[in-house]
Amino acid sequence: MTSNAPAPNANADTNADGAAASLKASVLVEALPYIRRFAGKTVVVKYGGNALAGTSDHDALALFAEDIVLMRLVGMRPIVVHGGGPQISALMARLGKEPEFLDGLRITDAETVDIARMVLKGQVNPQLVAAINVHGRFAVGISGVDAGLIRATARDEKLGFVGDVTQINPELIHGLIDDEFIPVIATIGSDETGQAYNINADTVAGAIAEAIGAEKLVYLTDIEGLRRDVADATSLIRQATADELDELVAEGIIAGGMIPKVASCTHAVRNGVHRAHILDGRIAHVLLLEVFTDAGIGTMVMQHRDEPTLDQPLEGALS
Ligand code: ADP
Ligand code: MG
Repeated sequence: MTSNAPAPNANADTNADGAAASLKASVLVEALPYIRRFAGKTVVVKYGGNALAGTSDHDALALFAEDIVLMRLVGMRPIVVHGGGPQISALMARLGKEPEFLDGLRITDAETVDIARMVLKGQVNPQLVAAINVHGRFAVGISGVDAGLIRATARDEKLGFVGDVTQINPELIHGLIDDEFIPVIATIGSDETGQAYNINADTVAGAIAEAIGAEKLVYLTDIEGLRRDVADATSLIRQATADELDELVAEGIIAGGMIPKVASCTHAVRNGVHRAHILDGRIAHVLLLEVFTDAGIGTMVMQHRDEPTLDQPLEGALS
């Protein structure tokens, strides 16, 4: 009986502290091979406008900023590309302008592209930059107009100033990451006459990841990953090749806001980006979980299933 007697409180506390400390230590040790593997590697992270909207936006934003700064401090080169659809709709509503959509794309007249530019470059972008720079002098906010980063052309006259990317000129990004800054990019592009276009942030993230030869392309969204059946939360697809995703698109399983993400993932992994991920941005520290732990999370996209698993730690990496 005595052996089952409760330990004195002091010992219980010491044991609990010890267990917590050893858990923390094991988490750090688990991260080491990943830190080694990804040191110096570039990761493009697309942060959705939905993740920023809503009442708890500041908490989510602060957690996201911590993840990005941690990645940078362990030697990775993160690049943030952001959207802002809900915020654009909100300012349009305040100005008494009704948002109109055609096949899921916002019809963007001259006034709307001005509003989009104001919101993305004047509101959302500095919010992200400021949240990251709470931790130091890391982030620099730019738009696709700066140094001709994103050249665009009209997608369809009916949509107005909705742009398609014609060219990425990544010199400015290379300069910033070589100087150890974190570029935070608002997805406004311009054509050769200087006309501004609003461009889908998913598409821009993929195009930039390809242009700079990123190791990873990561989408943070508002669902746990790709679902085989969008109505069934248990149907998460954990891994898929580009060819498998093409089939899902052809079958109509990928819809709405997932279409540009999946198209960018498949294009990117076929053009030199090693891995693309679709993750749930509502999970606290989801970026750290994906990059630095053994836990597979969300959906991972690769070019071929039989290639070596680059996301696994190197054998004997610590020896
Ligand atoms: P974001 O702001 O991150 O771009 P979107 O709303 O544009 O978010 O895209 C994510 C949405 O795509 C999900 O919330 C979901 O409703 C929708 N979706 C469509 N098809 C699928 C699918 N097969 N699996 C998961 N989500 C899907
Ligand atoms: Mg979207």
